[in-house]
Amino acid sequence: MPRLGTLSGTLEVLEKYQFRFQKKFGQNFLIEPGIIEKIVREAEVDKTDCVLEIGPGIGTMTQYLAEKAGEVIAVEIDKALIPILEDTLCEYPNVTVLNADILKVDVGRLAKERNGGKPFKVVANLPYYITTPILMQLFESHAPISDMTVMVQTEVAMRMREGPGSKDYGALSLAVQYYSRPEIVAHVPPACFLPRPNVGSTVIRLHRYEEPPVKTADVAFLFSLIRASFCQRRKTLVNGLQNAPGLGVSKEEAAAALEQMGLPVNVRGEALTLEQFARLAGLLYERSKRAGRDGRTRGEGQV
Ligand code: SAM
Repeated sequence: MPRLGTLSGTLEVLEKYQFRFQKKFGQNFLIEPGIIEKIVREAEVDKTDCVLEIGPGIGTMTQYLAEKAGEVIAVEIDKALIPILEDTLCEYPNVTVLNADILKVDVGRLAKERNGGKPFKVVANLPYYITTPILMQLFESHAPISDMTVMVQTEVAMRMREGPGSKDYGALSLAVQYYSRPEIVAHVPPACFLPRPNVGSTVIRLHRYEEPPVKTADVAFLFSLIRASFCQRRKTLVNGLQNAPGLGVSKEEAAAALEQMGLPVNVRGEALTLEQFARLAGLLYERSKRAGRDGRTRGEGQV
């Protein structure tokens, strides 16, 4: 079996198995060995690590990961890829391939079963159509994950890093920064993939915090508040919160909390830092609780 990562090696495998790309699964396979080596190097994978790879495709990056890691668990949704992976990974006894949708995998249980409950390192060239749901689920699951090095659409990577004042700053930025410290590793042009995606790609490493950088009484309430604040970007924060179904905050309560924080009553959500959102959530949560309301609208951290 050829070492994968080049265009010719990839085409050989695709031809052998008459594989047809499935657009609905966001399949863009890496064909540039230099980029794959950089991802694995920057993820700092070594023999003490158990790596969780999401979407191994034909096993390209999996081969590189298997050489560096103690163990690799690769979760692939497309069953047409499973016989290919059995072939391309046959020389790597430390790889286990699971045919499953990562969004339906209990990552906590997997860590218990496969890694004695110790943290996984997540390394992946993610399918772009579900980048945000995958990352949020991994953050919110109480599974041990030490950090994630992932390829995502450049625009999404930028949103993860942004702070107040930028048009790209939003609920995803705040969720990522609540759970981790984002670091851009590399920008990757479309020519490094087969087929070429029609967007730019970026590798980002998310160093998971052991403790979030801000304290909050109720993380679900904090994220309900954040989502409501960005739902209607052109509205002031007070109006956004007042219109949010299920948040249980009146216009007067929101205005009073902002005043207490020394913020203007017409401030917009995009001007607030994570610390300020945490403080605002604290003030409103107390009021909401005193009024006997439950301020949660959706699960914690969903964006
Ligand atoms: N890792 C390979 C590479 O770099 O060449 C393939 C990356 S490709 C961008 C994304 C992969 O994720 C595809 O193999 C696709 O079938 C798989 N995938 C898509 N949705 C998935 C899901 N919900 N769960 C697991 N794998 C998924």
